[in-house]
Amino acid sequence: MDCLFCKIVAGEIPSQKVYEDEEILAFRDIAPMAPVHILVIPKAHIGSVDEVTAENSGVVAHIFQVIPRIAQAEKLEKGYRVVSNCGEHAGQSVKHLHFHILGGRQLSLEMA
Ligand code: 5GP
Ligand code: ZN
Repeated sequence: MDCLFCKIVAGEIPSQKVYEDEEILAFRDIAPMAPVHILVIPKAHIGSVDEVTAENSGVVAHIFQVIPRIAQAEKLEKGYRVVSNCGEHAGQSVKHLHFHILGGRQLSLEMA
């Protein structure tokens, strides 16, 4: 499958990893929008939030257990934002489920 993040999981495209286990990978965004900008992805391909099901949602729960540990390691004690863009109107550019962790500065309150 021609998927950028599957290639990152496979090591075909290099990334700056900050966390990895059997199920998930977290790495720094190539075009950071905040001092800390990390992407957390399932290793198995899921296209977007729209493709989360009863069968594969365990990995999403796992991602949300790991996110606070990453935030702590990145010293985001003042807070951070978790975002997942889903589909065209949200501007999803990579069709492999990912959660942005954004922090390290006061973030805008604008959500749209
Ligand atoms: P989206 O717009 O789909 O929510 O987020 C995709 C994110 O992937 C963007 O923030 C973009 O900067 C990041 N990105 C795109 N290509 C690469 C890459 O090759 N390596 C890394 N580390 N991030 C990438
Ligand atoms: Zn993929």
